[in-house]
Amino acid sequence: MQLYNNLSAKERAELIEKAGKERLTISFYKYAKIGNTQIFRNHMFIAWDALDVLGRIYVAHEGINAQLSVPAENFEAFKNHLDTITFLENVRLNIAIEHDNFAFLKLKVKVRHKIVADGLNDNTFDVTNKGIHVNAEQFNDLIEDPDTVLVDMRNHYESEIGHFKNAITPDVDTFRESLDLIEEDLREHKENKKLVMYCTGGIRCEKASAYYRHKGFKNVFQLEGGIINYTRQVEAEGLENKFIGKNFVFDQRRSERISDDVIANCHQCGKPADTHTNCVNEACHLLFIQCDECKEKMDNCCSTHCQEIIKLPYEEQKALRKGQGNSNDIFKKGRADHLPYKKDLRNIFENQGNSTQ
Ligand SMILES: [Zn+2]
Ligand SMILES: [Zn+2]
Repeated sequence: MQLYNNLSAKERAELIEKAGKERLTISFYKYAKIGNTQIFRNHMFIAWDALDVLGRIYVAHEGINAQLSVPAENFEAFKNHLDTITFLENVRLNIAIEHDNFAFLKLKVKVRHKIVADGLNDNTFDVTNKGIHVNAEQFNDLIEDPDTVLVDMRNHYESEIGHFKNAITPDVDTFRESLDLIEEDLREHKENKKLVMYCTGGIRCEKASAYYRHKGFKNVFQLEGGIINYTRQVEAEGLENKFIGKNFVFDQRRSERISDDVIANCHQCGKPADTHTNCVNEACHLLFIQCDECKEKMDNCCSTHCQEIIKLPYEEQKALRKGQGNSNDIFKKGRADHLPYKKDLRNIFENQGNSTQ
């Protein structure tokens, strides 16, 4: 029985291309008690592999978190399979706004300690004691309330390119940092303010809302299905869209445009830009925001250092990489100190009155 991928990303991309069939990009999560995670994992892999599902799925004792792509023609069968699993019956599927047949090129179902890297000790609070779920319409009303504090539960590199109007966007790299920062800021308002939070697909708020209730916050709300589901509802129901910019997503697409506003700046020249790019130097691969002009001028590199390296013959590049590994600072962005443009970036932020610490 085959329990792992046997095609390379390149082979898979060729197959998808040849098939020429539409694929849907979907995400879902569920907190649930899973006893034998390995057996569950294998069960999912076999069923989904048969349906030509691709993606990145985390399975843990606390539940499942899945980002995947499904051939449109297999969608019903996929849903039917989910419905055969008690705790996944009618699970909310967040279906992407913009599809990309190449969003995922492998099926990776991984057993993890947690389904989200949250840095929290589960035993300290009850995850099921979560906040009140609100839909897009309720959310729109709620965030106009003067007693509301709207918090973006994502990391800085995500909110940088898009967020809800008037949201607090913590300048953090991890979820854990965010939790502490917000608690500190709102310490005095645990009872009188409405804490309203959102994230990409809802999973982080699920935990954060339970965490804040545990910490004594009385009025905790979360956007059901996150930004992805909000955008669909806004379109379907003709509601006002209060999200500006792009929604950062965790697959090849990197983001979905939600409004035409460009709220971020190129990390190299500071001009308005909101397209993430991976430094083309394989030893670097940093994910950062680059405008089209800098992209051309810098040959898709994050720094002149990387630009010099990619001009070397491939064998020499490989020799340089030896023993160093791929830094893969995908989300460290402007915080990677070794980068020459870091200094410029700091200036840009200072000029805007933002803090980079
Ligand atoms: Zn630029
Ligand atoms: Zn680089």
